[in-house]
Amino acid sequence: MVGADFAELVRLCKALEATGSRNAKVALLSKYFRGLSPEDAKVAAYLLLGLPPDVRGRPLSVGWATIQEALKAKPTAPLVEEPLTLRDLWSSLRALASLQGSGSRARKVAVLQSLFRRFGGEELGWVLRILSGEMRHGVNHGLLLEAVAAILSAEIDYVRRMDMLVNDVGELVRMAVSGELGKVELKLFNPVRPMLAETCESIEEALRLHGGQTSLEPKYDGVRVQIHIDGPEIRVYTRRLTDITERVPDVAEIIRGAVASRSAVLDGEVVAVDESGKALPFQETMRRVGRERDVAEAVKNLPLKLWIFDVLYLDGEAVIDRVYEERRRRLEAVVRPEVLAPRVLTGDPAVAEEFLRRVLDAGHEGVLAKEPRSVYTPGRRGAKWLKVKPAERLDVVIVAAEWGHGRRRGWLSNYHLAVLDEESGNFAVVGKTFKGLTDEEFEYMTRRLLSLKTEEFGWGVTVKPEIVVEVAYNEIQRSPHYESGLALRFARIVRIREDKSPRDADTLQRLRTLYRRQFEKKGRPTDGESLAYL
Ligand code: AMP
Repeated sequence: MVGADFAELVRLCKALEATGSRNAKVALLSKYFRGLSPEDAKVAAYLLLGLPPDVRGRPLSVGWATIQEALKAKPTAPLVEEPLTLRDLWSSLRALASLQGSGSRARKVAVLQSLFRRFGGEELGWVLRILSGEMRHGVNHGLLLEAVAAILSAEIDYVRRMDMLVNDVGELVRMAVSGELGKVELKLFNPVRPMLAETCESIEEALRLHGGQTSLEPKYDGVRVQIHIDGPEIRVYTRRLTDITERVPDVAEIIRGAVASRSAVLDGEVVAVDESGKALPFQETMRRVGRERDVAEAVKNLPLKLWIFDVLYLDGEAVIDRVYEERRRRLEAVVRPEVLAPRVLTGDPAVAEEFLRRVLDAGHEGVLAKEPRSVYTPGRRGAKWLKVKPAERLDVVIVAAEWGHGRRRGWLSNYHLAVLDEESGNFAVVGKTFKGLTDEEFEYMTRRLLSLKTEEFGWGVTVKPEIVVEVAYNEIQRSPHYESGLALRFARIVRIREDKSPRDADTLQRLRTLYRRQFEKKGRPTDGESLAYL
């Protein structure tokens, strides 16, 4: 086979590994790609990222034990004189990927052996890195896009847009080298990677990042969908671009009644609902969308509600380069209000907070803040979309305190936090914290706690449950240490609630509910590893 040598790629990898400079890496990559044929450039892109070939949807799966076995049989001197090309290597990897199922291991070992036989030591090291997917030369997807921008002398945003449309990094590099990239357009039934949101601490922060004005929508806890419409033909894709049309016939049905345009690509979220239309936990939506058999029955038992919040293409025209406000206006003109995500465009923190409060009251976990002048870009980038989920907070009671050490010596500074167990009427400890108070507050707390002392120990005191503090925390965990069975992770005091009595504190029963609810969300496929079909 002809084409670029693997040895040249290895030289590039070593040079990439040797420099820490991003610019230098970009320069090395773009120079290398420019010297390749479009087809070689495509293969090189995959190999550089350690991406395995995907044969009929099945990726390469070679375990370390298989590799070890193949290595054992490797003769010391290479058997074949002619140099190995990128495409030779790629076709061997494809052969490996096509070997599946029981009994395939021995054949995998054989393919690997014949592959390994062709390398000197250094090259073999890089093949092993490719097989493991860990290249360790500091080139990731983003850097490769920068190299493509350098090849084309184009803006990085343009390349990111193309990446979203092409959706295959090897193809992207191939088209950049062949000069075809300018011709790429958003096409119907060719799903693109959706725009995602970055995390943001607060509404004020979102307003600041968006230059004083932002558009807020509820953050739905469901499954993202991209819907392509061309007359009677409707197809639905997930955020990983899997076509799930057959599993969600109800979505097509909703679209038929709710969208007044000939052709469109719409972005939205589906959520499974109960008979009263109330959103069900995320896992129910997953269960519904994942269901491939008895779909008609599932449609009846677990109906989906669709919320549309963006448009990428409308009546023959791609609108991803239009700003959000314009896309939203176009969307409102063609979509019935029942399926349109409600929103508020505001620069007033009070209006934004009120919207957030209403959204939380309605049972959503937060809001999405969208920058009104932003174009549609794939992935999580540039903080144009922000998700605001208020930190979890609880009111707890201090039932004991430990003497501090070091600079906190002399203060009761480590507090045992408890919630009210409504069944027994006692307080149940759910964590400890020494975080969040100022020196003056430590002093004040020490005085108050000593006045509430019920028993004294070497380590500190137990106290009458009197003082209520509001704590922020990151997670509720199961705990073998506390009788309550639960513990707050990373608890820190936000403020002392003089206005609250211990009877107003949060309860163990509520904590259990929060724990369960949080557990339901743990299944969420932020990037879908455990739920491969999405
Ligand atoms: P997370 O899954 O926590 O990273 O949150 C981001 C996800 O929220 C997005 O990928 C969407 O699937 C989803 N989402 C929910 N509501 C909206 C909305 N109104 N606009 C955009 N994305 C949303």
